[in-house]
Amino acid sequence: MSFIIGLTGGIGSGKSTVAGLFTARGVALVDTDEIAHTLTAPGGGAMEAIGSTFGREFIAADGSLDRATTRRRVFAQPSMRRELEAILHPRIQEAVELALRSDSVRRAPYTILAVPLLFESQTYRQRTSRSLLVDCGTACQIQRVGRRSGLTETETHRIMAAQLPRPIRLQLADDLIWNGGAAERLAPQVDRLHGKYLAAAGV
Ligand code: ADP
Repeated sequence: MSFIIGLTGGIGSGKSTVAGLFTARGVALVDTDEIAHTLTAPGGGAMEAIGSTFGREFIAADGSLDRATTRRRVFAQPSMRRELEAILHPRIQEAVELALRSDSVRRAPYTILAVPLLFESQTYRQRTSRSLLVDCGTACQIQRVGRRSGLTETETHRIMAAQLPRPIRLQLADDLIWNGGAAERLAPQVDRLHGKYLAAAGV
């Protein structure tokens, strides 16, 4: 089985940016966020189950998951979050397993599996050989998420509250990329880890 690095970090910490630097070096990427988006896009594999469980309320005019409404509703009603997760999680896991068996993964020297809640999930932790945390300060996360997605500070805090506290993430991680500075400082850190992972993967 291929060598799999679990990539994680708080919202806005820079996971996607870091993942892009690894794929530019020929590493395969399986991204659970991207899979979740595909499943909840118009005609996506989770939309029928979401429609039959919650009715039209969670579905936008184009047939995709209405993310803003969903965020609001599951925050107000935690049982709804669990129901939604019961629909999404098995489908995401199934898609991850399929992707991990794909030719592009087989051909790559090793694989990055991006999972925002890696440390919160036994399933994904067991699936990975090492964990890599992308980290930056909380203020930095809020600023970047605001710029990227227009989320307010309160909304970002709410999402952050669903993740393990930063000090625990830092303690659990095998490897760390610091992204509290300029984006140009990422490449040298990725290069160093890439060398280490190639050696560990026996390539
Ligand atoms: P994540 O995937 O962890 O949510 P992203 O990689 O999408 O984070 O980064 C969040 C936002 O911040 C994106 O718009 C990205 O372009 C930007 N960003 C990432 N790293 C930096 C950096 N070092 N300096 C400034 N902006 C950054």
